[in-house]
Amino acid sequence: MTATETRTPDPAGAGAPHRAIDVAIVGVGKIARDQHLPAIAADPRFRLAATVSRSGGVAGVENHPTLEALLDARPDIGAVSLCQPPQVRHEAARSAILAGRHVMLEKPPGQTVAEVQALAELARAQGVSLFATWHSRHAAGVAPARDWCAAHPPRRVRITWKEDVREWHPGQTWIWQAGGLGVFDPGINALSILTAILPAPVRLTSADLAFPSNCETPIACDLVFAGAQGLAVEARFDFRWQGTPAWDIEIEADDGRLRLSDGGAALAADEAARPLSGPGEYPDLYRRFGDLIAAGASDVDVTPLVHVADAFLLGRRLTVEPFHE
Ligand code: NAP
Repeated sequence: MTATETRTPDPAGAGAPHRAIDVAIVGVGKIARDQHLPAIAADPRFRLAATVSRSGGVAGVENHPTLEALLDARPDIGAVSLCQPPQVRHEAARSAILAGRHVMLEKPPGQTVAEVQALAELARAQGVSLFATWHSRHAAGVAPARDWCAAHPPRRVRITWKEDVREWHPGQTWIWQAGGLGVFDPGINALSILTAILPAPVRLTSADLAFPSNCETPIACDLVFAGAQGLAVEARFDFRWQGTPAWDIEIEADDGRLRLSDGGAALAADEAARPLSGPGEYPDLYRRFGDLIAAGASDVDVTPLVHVADAFLLGRRLTVEPFHE
C-alpha cells in the first residue's frame, strides 16, 4: 500500500532536467556514505550542495553543524535527505518542511506512527514533497515477486532475517535505545518487502520479542501474521547470527514456490533463478524522489512501521542475556 498524493508540480523536477535540485544530506553516517552520496553523484537531477554533520561531513562539501544553521544560510537548497537515527528525524523533518524544503526520510520514517502521519499532514499543508523511503522495496527482485504473487496467491510465507549486529551495526548505540528498533531496524526491511508484494494486507497475530537485559530494544523476535484465504506468514529476525547473513523470503502457493533472497536482490521461482536487472536501490530512490518533486506529490506509507508497532503492542517480552559490543 503506498499513499501518494499530488499538489502543484515543482518546475525544478523531472520536467526541467537542465536545472538540478540542490540537496543537503543530514547525518553523514554509514548509509549516507555507502549509498546516498554515490546515488546523488550519479543522478543529474540532484546536486549535493551541503551537509549537516556534527562530525565534519564530506571533504570539499559545505557543512553546517545544525539543520537550523543550514536552513537559515541556504534558502536556495530545495531538498534535504535525512539520514540520522530515527529518534531525531521527526524534529528535523518538521523544521525542513516548515522551511519549505522537500524531504526524503531514511527508513524507518520515524520513531512512532503518529509522528510520521503528522509530517505527511504538514507536508501537504506546506506544499512540499515528503518521501518516506523503504529502500528494500527498490531491490531488483521485488517488482517481479509482486507480479508472481499476483498470479500465484500465497498460502505460506517464511521470512528469515538474520545478521551479526556487531558486523553490520558497529558502534550504533542508538539502535539499542528506545525508538532505535533493535532487530527491527533491519527486520522492517523484510516487512517493507512483504507489504509491497502480497496482493492483500496481513495482520499480526502473535509475537515473541527477546530483549537483552541491558537494552531498550529487542535483539531477536518471532512474528506470526494472518491474511485472507488462510495465508500464514512467519518471520524470524535475529541480530545474534554469526557468519553469512540470511535475508530471505520464501513463498508457497498452491501452484508454485518463490524464493526472494539477498534482501530482495535475488529471485528463484520453482528453484529456477530468474535473471534480474535494475538501477540499484538508492539510485531508484533518488529517481523516485525527483519524480515526486516534479509531480508535486508525496509518498508516505506507514504500513511496515504499523506492523512493528503492533509487535511492540502484542509481543510477549522475554529477557535474555545482556548485549555487549
Ligand atoms: P550511523 O552510521 O549511526 O549514522 C547516522 C549519522 O547520523 C551519524 O553518523 C551522525 O552523523 C548522525 N547522528 C547520529 N546520532 C545523532 C543524533 N543523536 N542526533 C543527530 N544526528 C545524529 O547510522 P546509519 O547506519 O547510517 O543509519 C542511519 C539511518 O539509515 C537509520 O535509520 C537506518 O535504519 C537507516 N539505514 C541504514 C542502513 C545501513 O546499512 N547502515 C541501510 C539502510 C538504511 P554526523 O556525525 O554527520 O552528525
